[in-house]
Amino acid sequence: MQPAIETRDLHKSFGAFKVLKGVSFKAHEHQVIAIIGASGSGKSTFLRCLNFLEQPDQGEIHFKGEVIRISDPRRPPRQQIERLRRRTGMVFQQFNLWSHWTVLENLTKVPIQVHGVPRAEAMARAMELLNRVGMAEKRDAYPAALSGGQQQRVAIARALAIEPEVLFFDEPTSALDPELVGEVLTVIRGLAKEGRTMIVVTHEMSFAREVSDRVVFFHDGCIEEDGLPADVLKQPKSARLGSFLRSVR
Ligand code: ADP
Ligand code: MG
Repeated sequence: MQPAIETRDLHKSFGAFKVLKGVSFKAHEHQVIAIIGASGSGKSTFLRCLNFLEQPDQGEIHFKGEVIRISDPRRPPRQQIERLRRRTGMVFQQFNLWSHWTVLENLTKVPIQVHGVPRAEAMARAMELLNRVGMAEKRDAYPAALSGGQQQRVAIARALAIEPEVLFFDEPTSALDPELVGEVLTVIRGLAKEGRTMIVVTHEMSFAREVSDRVVFFHDGCIEEDGLPADVLKQPKSARLGSFLRSVR
């Protein structure tokens, strides 16, 4: 079966500093992949390269059979990158809602103004998504009036508003007070149950164990271990993964 998203030998440096050193990765449709690893190991950079928030230096990204070659030509065509972005949704650690727009506007402005979705359709879809994440009552609130957990639930609804085929989460609960983590994980768990394809960078090992189909351990810009949650989290092969797991328990 063809993977939903795949990278081959992906490299990324910032100046002389190599952050990704040849990452080859696959996620199949309907899979939830958890990415774990120490701070600075390149997890966020990897996720950002997948939708070209960072421009990778070398390698290939395959998205449902479409190949984006990074170095041939050196920059892939703008239209190819835009097409990839339209088919993926991203949820950030710091929510990144537009602060001068209401909750509803955060979900509807881009579909209406950028993607040409008819207004009535965008509004109906937004309300359905806000209901789903339990935020419909806050449709007219501005982000600053919401708790972190509420903002992140709106950010998830916003990511869904473009009807992405793959969802990326970059430590979606790391910026939250502990009592707000559960409400966000519940929403993400629900998306996993729907069979969505998701790549989730997380420090929540119990969440990774419970929800993911595979766990991928990043170390120093490389994938050091990749396997079933029960194997990777319970019987690590690499000593580095073993010591990482001890450090987060
Ligand atoms: P992680 O998400 O695993 O904590 P990151 O991908 O954020 O790791 O970062 C990996 C390394 O790349 C870190 O050393 C970080 O400081 C560096 N880095 C990330 N983004 C930039 C950038 N825009 N410019 C320079 N260095 C960066
Ligand atoms: Mg990070």
